[in-house]
Amino acid sequence: MGIIVQKFGGTSVATAEGRAHLTRKVAEAAKHSDVVVVVSAMGRAPAPYATDTLLGLVDCDRSSAARELDALAACGEIISSVVVTAALRGLGLDAVSLTGAQAGIVTDDCHGQARIVHIDTARLVNHIKAGQIPVVAGFQGINSRGDMTTLGRGGSDTTAAALGAALGADRVEIYTDVTGVMSADPNVVPEARWQDSMTYTELIEMANLGAKVVHLQAVEIAMHSRTPLVIRSTFSDEEGTIVTDMAGKPTAPFAALRPVTAVATTGGRAQLIVEGGNLNVFSAMATNGVSVDMINVFPDRVAFIIAMADLPVARKVIDGLGHKVDVVEGCAKVSIVGEGMRGTPGIMARLATALAEAGVAILQTSDSHYSISCLVKSEQMETAARALHAQFGLGGM
Ligand code: ASP
Ligand code: MG
Repeated sequence: MGIIVQKFGGTSVATAEGRAHLTRKVAEAAKHSDVVVVVSAMGRAPAPYATDTLLGLVDCDRSSAARELDALAACGEIISSVVVTAALRGLGLDAVSLTGAQAGIVTDDCHGQARIVHIDTARLVNHIKAGQIPVVAGFQGINSRGDMTTLGRGGSDTTAAALGAALGADRVEIYTDVTGVMSADPNVVPEARWQDSMTYTELIEMANLGAKVVHLQAVEIAMHSRTPLVIRSTFSDEEGTIVTDMAGKPTAPFAALRPVTAVATTGGRAQLIVEGGNLNVFSAMATNGVSVDMINVFPDRVAFIIAMADLPVARKVIDGLGHKVDVVEGCAKVSIVGEGMRGTPGIMARLATALAEAGVAILQTSDSHYSISCLVKSEQMETAARALHAQFGLGGM
């Protein structure tokens, strides 16, 4: 029998109703596969065992208490794994709860943002061979000193992907409260629909451009191990979105990739054009911890964008260098994403036409092989996103 890893997020484990759906999904999968379950902490703050609630129990300096905070945060997923194990047993399934350490997950020492370095699957494999369903606490591991570590916020997805890779699973299913990966943020684009398939690269690009779907590292692990990743809802029977290295049904492996599969949006940006600025501007930004994006360098000036929250620091730094800066506050970045746009002529032309027809002014652009981003005024973000969504047929024909 092949192995399926099923990861359930906080909303799926928080309530008895969610757990009833969860146990049904596990029981279904257990009919034809060996199943390993990974769980997140129960609910979101102020729920009593949510990660932020637990972290709020102590008032301390985050950097000096990083080891203790990891031990505290890891409790949320451990509680969840016991509760879910009990629910599965209630249904007659032979489940066993495991901490990340018990599941053999070894990480580096970087508390709060640890990377998995090794997984010793011996114990997991023994449980599976004995016909048991391991329920692993997500988001955590153990370092070489035997201390508890956590994998960064949203890290339970990464636990699931890593276990899938280590066990050679047929697929890793990420269960959440949405039907799948959406073609755009539905709060910005009401016509947004969920996608039935996507490539790893597209999902990584979307995450980098501001869409919060799956923990970035989870997608990277799935991509490198070529494990199919499925994003689907605990609460419905829809298939969800299957993420592989070739979007499209397995029956059509040579189908052309769609040029654009999603629109991503990020608000709260400011554009800076530094007259007479040169490359020393970037060193000064870096020294002061300001992250820059959409970078354009010209002989007589440099242009880039930053988060609005970083604007006071950035202004001070540039004043200190003696440069004049033009700032456009209240900007948003609107991007189209698609692996199939590489080498396809006319995508930029269609983008420009769609935005011009919608009356949106483009302040700056940047692009990669798999995306084109436009900076627009915040009040035009929605118009721009909807125009691009329609132009590339993402809302259906
Ligand atoms: N509970 C952790 C967090 O809130 C990890 C996760 O949910 O994936 O970040
Ligand atoms: Mg999550």
